[in-house]
Amino acid sequence: MADKKQQGLVQVFTGNGKGKTTAALGAVLRAAGHDWKIYIVFFFKGKRDSGEFTSLSKFPNVVLSRFGLRPFADPADITPTEKEQARRALAAASEAVTSGRYDLVVLDEVNVALDYKLVSLDDVLRLVREKPSHVELILTGRHADNRLLEAADLVTEMVKVKHPFDKGIKARKGIEY
Ligand code: ATP
Ligand code: MG
Repeated sequence: MADKKQQGLVQVFTGNGKGKTTAALGAVLRAAGHDWKIYIVFFFKGKRDSGEFTSLSKFPNVVLSRFGLRPFADPADITPTEKEQARRALAAASEAVTSGRYDLVVLDEVNVALDYKLVSLDDVLRLVREKPSHVELILTGRHADNRLLEAADLVTEMVKVKHPFDKGIKARKGIEY
């Protein structure tokens, strides 16, 4: 368990380069080694057989919660079910954060849900503001809102210099999923 005297901070991984979700999962790996209690909310389903779900389910101190937009959903074509899923994802994250039961909470792709207007920025900012002091929060996804960046303690922007996708190499098992 985390040292309750240690201040938890708010981290954001954004930008159009690869590495946002994997950075968050790297942080999870490190915290899990210190027996922190960890809750991860995936706002987007991703590929069903993505390796991290299988790996993370082996950690006794990591709880996974998966909601779901289709991978690469078209923002102009979001179904009511998907909207409801995003709302539930944020509710699950809020419950995990405010419960104080977790030391690290990850909201993977919440920035995309915000960008698509599936959840409200005010709700996310409230979550950031009202988190118990020991809880570390990590929020990922492209197009993070400036108000979230202002509220965060750590912001890293992944800048795409090159991505193999641009030369036609599709997502690879074990690397992208
Ligand atoms: P990763 O999960 O590999 O850390 P990410 O979280 O930074 O990537 P997302 O924005 O969530 O990236 O993108 C979803 C998928 O698209 C991932 O499989 C990712 O590897 C891939 N991807 C990331 N950046 C790019 C890019 N610039 N062009 C094409 N595909 C990308
Ligand atoms: Mg991602």
